[in-house]
Amino acid sequence: MKRYRSHIFVMIALAIVLAGGWHSSLRNALADLRFAWQSRQVSGNIVVIAIDASSIDRIGVWPWPRVLHAELIRQLQKADVQDIALDVDFSTPSDASSDRNFAEALQNAGGSVVLPSFQQPRTDRTTLHINRPLQQFAEHSWPAVVNVEVGRDGLVRHYPFGEKLDGKFVPSMAAVLAGQYAEKRTPFLIDFSIRTAGIPKVSFADVLRGDPATLQKLQSKKVIVGGTALELGDRFSVPNGVILSGPVLQTLAAESLLQNRALQWTSGVVTATGLALLALLMLFSWRRLSAGTRVALLAATAIAIEAGAFALQAVFPLMLDTSLFHIAIIVYIAATGLDEIDIRDLLGRVAESRFQRVAMSLGDGLICTDSNYLITVWNPGATAIFGYLPEEMIGRSFDKICARDGTTATSPFSISDAARLAAGSVIEFDGRRSNGEVFPVEASFSGWQGTDGFQFGAILRDISVRKREAARIKYLAEYDTLTGLINRNTLHGELEAKISAAEANGHKVALLVIGIDGFQQINDMLGHTCGDLVLRAISQRLTAAIPPAGQVARLSGDEFAIAVPTSDIGESLGRFAEQIGDGFDTPLLAGNRHLRVKVSIGAAVFPGDGRTADELLSNAHLALSRAKATNRGGYVLFEDSIRRELEKRLTLEAELALAAERNEFELFYQPQLHLADGRLIGAEALIRWRHPERGLVSPGEFMPVVNTSPISDRIAEWVLQTACAKGAAWERAGHKLRIGVNLSPSQMVSGDLAISVAQVLANTGLSPTSLELEVTEDILLHDEQGALNTFLEIQELGVRLVFDDFGTGFASLSYLKKFPLDGLKIDRSFVLGLLTNPDDAAIVSSTIGLSKQLGLSVIAEGIEDRSTADLLARMGCEEGQGYCFGRPMPATEFEAKFLAAPTAVEVA
Ligand code: C2E
Ligand code: MG
Ligand code: MG
Repeated sequence: MKRYRSHIFVMIALAIVLAGGWHSSLRNALADLRFAWQSRQVSGNIVVIAIDASSIDRIGVWPWPRVLHAELIRQLQKADVQDIALDVDFSTPSDASSDRNFAEALQNAGGSVVLPSFQQPRTDRTTLHINRPLQQFAEHSWPAVVNVEVGRDGLVRHYPFGEKLDGKFVPSMAAVLAGQYAEKRTPFLIDFSIRTAGIPKVSFADVLRGDPATLQKLQSKKVIVGGTALELGDRFSVPNGVILSGPVLQTLAAESLLQNRALQWTSGVVTATGLALLALLMLFSWRRLSAGTRVALLAATAIAIEAGAFALQAVFPLMLDTSLFHIAIIVYIAATGLDEIDIRDLLGRVAESRFQRVAMSLGDGLICTDSNYLITVWNPGATAIFGYLPEEMIGRSFDKICARDGTTATSPFSISDAARLAAGSVIEFDGRRSNGEVFPVEASFSGWQGTDGFQFGAILRDISVRKREAARIKYLAEYDTLTGLINRNTLHGELEAKISAAEANGHKVALLVIGIDGFQQINDMLGHTCGDLVLRAISQRLTAAIPPAGQVARLSGDEFAIAVPTSDIGESLGRFAEQIGDGFDTPLLAGNRHLRVKVSIGAAVFPGDGRTADELLSNAHLALSRAKATNRGGYVLFEDSIRRELEKRLTLEAELALAAERNEFELFYQPQLHLADGRLIGAEALIRWRHPERGLVSPGEFMPVVNTSPISDRIAEWVLQTACAKGAAWERAGHKLRIGVNLSPSQMVSGDLAISVAQVLANTGLSPTSLELEVTEDILLHDEQGALNTFLEIQELGVRLVFDDFGTGFASLSYLKKFPLDGLKIDRSFVLGLLTNPDDAAIVSSTIGLSKQLGLSVIAEGIEDRSTADLLARMGCEEGQGYCFGRPMPATEFEAKFLAAPTAVEVA
């Protein structure tokens, strides 16, 4: 709607002008102006014979007898004029002889004289009376109307081509003189730019007296005879304040016709089209051009239209009606102004109310200041943040809320600094609340030129919570929350920094990874709370033990690390590691409990043991693993051999996985005999790896790797299955043998060993009593209760359990008490030295005695010669196994040697 507002205004204005009748006045006023500015010369072909004051004076009587007019016609004929038009009333009779004389003159003129007819209102003013020349004159003359139309403004502008008098068309006097008799057209507009001053005039009296000079002027001219004397009253007002006598007006009309200047207004279609074009121009430019440009465009259009109209009128007898254009243009200009004033005012008010609403509802603080930085706006958000009410702050300096001696931001901030900031840039500064508290504020400032100078606005936000959160997140990302030490990530960064520094000055950096021995047990036995206290105490002890340039980190649950330039540790790295370890000789205080904790340490040094943080961490860990495996409670400095071993181990693991797939494993069987009579009582299944290149590989080389790798389960299962199957086959062949199978640690971890043993027995058909499972101490170590349960279930099945390598571990004796075993296998290390080493003999002897006491079977391994066998037999050991009776051998060989005939084995 708003878009078309100006056009609607224009339409209304035009409608009012047209309906109110002001259109023609405007149009005429513009036309009059153009007449005033243009100037045309008369042709000079029409001469006015003036019945002027001097003629009246000279003739001396009034009204004149018609003989004078008759005489005039004769004189004019003599002067050889072209046309004679008399603008004199001949409608009423005068004295008869005079009339006759005039009629004769007309007749003599050959009927070429034009006499006027005119209409004039009767006295009742309702009807018209037509004044015609008397019949006797009309017979010998041309009739012509001399009526002119007087406009509402009392001015004559139009002139008719003729009129219908009593139903007959009579041409107008000017039309007759111009030779245009056609009954046509509406009245034309007299061209008032033709200057009447140039119309040739001669005095009636001069013609009448036959003044040769006067008559000379009239030769071949058209003449109009009429009254010009003021007292005759035949006068008309025309545009631009000019008054013309009747004959001059008739002459002007005739001149207009003769010069083809019978003006016509352009058609309404032209005006309508022009207005439509103007509307289109405005429609197009309204939003595209500024108001000023539009006004200029409109003014230019007005000038162009007027100039065009002027030019058109100069060249053609056409009067372009520009009045409506000018009205439209004026209204458009007014509407533009209105629009501008409106919009600005409205926008101002809308913006103001919007600003108020936004400012009041904003959660953030919004503060505006004047050019002196005195606060002018203070919203509820600002009150919430700073604690001041608006009335306390309006008019006060902005700097009142800035903590110039702040502590959280880098530099103190003043509002005067805002002037230098780019608009919209966000800064942080220390704010001060009404209670004096200093806190971080985030602010974005803007400045603008207001009505009373430059002003500032600031959106402020209390970011103390955000800052705290960010600090907390940073802390969580970088530190170990339990101990407050840096975490693995941070250590990594620190280590890298230390390495770069060391690289620059040619120094070394040591990394020690410290593992707590048996931390799991502390957690399990004393609970996690105590475990946490221990970890804290350890972190404190480590922190206290390092030089200032060192850094302690917690890497994982029970692992810590120390990164330190070697230049700061004084002695050798070994000595430093030892000191760290020794630091734990004194018990730790965890709550109210004193605990003794041991740590194992692995250490690596930049650049020798690794050039990056990753390499150092990895190698120090390897050294720690080595320490835990070989030097628990001590330290190991990284060496390349550790990594090489690891690599070797990894290669072996891969090879073993491949070997399992290719079925390269094989079970050998070693006989077990009754020492007294050499009777075969059983066989121990012992694994071999038939390596495609290396030949037979003994289990000592690969089982430790198998036992700690993922293929352990698979291989252990295969051993049990294969041995039981073989034992069952021998059983079916009539050989009642005990099959010894070595258990792997992984079989105890799963907890379902008893189930799988039962399944294997069921699958193979081996009697449970023929199966003897051999366990070593390392199997029992990690979960005694679990092992106990499994053993009980296995024994339920009827399967025997014997303790392998008895006497080599730390707690062999205690296990005898804890576990429900069926027998012992005396380790071959005691048996091998039995004959020579009295200690071994004592151990073996007491083991045999112990087993007897406990009701356990006992078998000696590693019997390599007969005398050892005999000694063992004498000592009370009933069973034996060793090279002396047979080496571990493939099943076929075993069958050939021992199962061919059920005989006692002959000892070599
Ligand atoms: P072990 O269970 O104590 O097996 C007895 C070991 O003593 C066998 O070594 C055997 O060849 C060896 N031996 C027997 N008599 C003599 C002797 O007169 N003199 C000497 N010097 N040695 C004798 P092997 O076959 O090399 O096995 C070594 C260890 O590997 C086994 O010790 C056992 O702990 C493990 N092992 C062997 N096979 C398997 C298996 O199938 N599963 C599991 N889990 N471990 C196995
Ligand atoms: Mg064994
Ligand atoms: Mg053994």
